[in-house]
Amino acid sequence: MEFRLIDRIRERTAQGREDVRLGIGDDAAVVAPPAGQELAIAVDTMVEGVHFPHGTDPADIGWKVLAVNLSDLAAMGASPAWALLALTLPRQPVAQVQQFIDGFADGFTQLAQPHRLALIGGDTTSGPLSVSVAVHGFVPPGQALVRGGARAGDVVLVTGTLGDAAAGLRLLQSGARVTEDARAAYLIERLHRPTPRLQAGLALRGRATACIDVSDGLLADLGHICEASALGAELEASLLPRSPMLLGSFDDVASLNFALAGGDDYELCFTVPPSLVAEVQGDLARLGCGATRIGRMVEGAGVRVRDEQGQWLESNHRGWDHFA
Ligand code: ADP
Ligand code: MG
Repeated sequence: MEFRLIDRIRERTAQGREDVRLGIGDDAAVVAPPAGQELAIAVDTMVEGVHFPHGTDPADIGWKVLAVNLSDLAAMGASPAWALLALTLPRQPVAQVQQFIDGFADGFTQLAQPHRLALIGGDTTSGPLSVSVAVHGFVPPGQALVRGGARAGDVVLVTGTLGDAAAGLRLLQSGARVTEDARAAYLIERLHRPTPRLQAGLALRGRATACIDVSDGLLADLGHICEASALGAELEASLLPRSPMLLGSFDDVASLNFALAGGDDYELCFTVPPSLVAEVQGDLARLGCGATRIGRMVEGAGVRVRDEQGQWLESNHRGWDHFA
């Protein structure tokens, strides 16, 4: 049965690429990397009950496990080419397995196709539901965007809006019915179907001094840039880009906490020298995601956030608050 399943995956994800010499079906895939390019490689796993709730639509799982990987390539300024897929599926009747595979493959392909990403192999085992994808992308030598290159005085920017996915998760957990509320539907869609900012990542090559994708929340991920760059960051709470759907669904304190500490947005957070901010913002606006300046890099360590009155926000048991 495994073989018919793999055939099904191959058929539903088919994507012709000349650089794939051997795809699904042999002992290993054989690919021809372009001369003079470096490879950027990443892998991410999603486990049922940990990274997505039981009962999540298989198409959403297929989209998201690819999206989180493509987001890692975006954060490196790499353009995607190939993927591997390791599937662990519970033992269940064939019809159910097929239904899962078909949905999963369709969600995966919806995102893979526009990026011309080819699924070239994988592994299939039985056990608790878990999906892993590894992606390979190209980047010109020495041009990968890294976390450690920020300089004091650089401006911190972020693409898109922050906090939507965490708000969507909160709504799901509180039993919101998507059909009843367009704002809730938007936020839950942002959770299930994040948009990897691949074009933005390419546009940042040679201009951003540091870059990371926001998967664990802005404070945590900008914290990684700070650590790698041996600097601190100062943010203005009032500048954090929040969607009208988020602001319409939660009060100011809750939406600020989602924007600062919520995960799963898969926006890019990056630093650029002040002289490049305007042109980078112009380019990212043309790409549709936009980029908002939210603060700057400073000597020191750690991320600090200032409110509109200039008071530093502090962390407490409810999250980040005007508690100082
Ligand atoms: P082997 O035992 O040689 O690893 P497998 O039976 O695991 O062979 O896989 C057969 C072929 O199918 C290989 O080319 C492998 O890459 C591919 N494959 C297996 N599982 C998947 C999957 N979930 N998605 C994509 N390709 C897969
Ligand atoms: Mg195998």
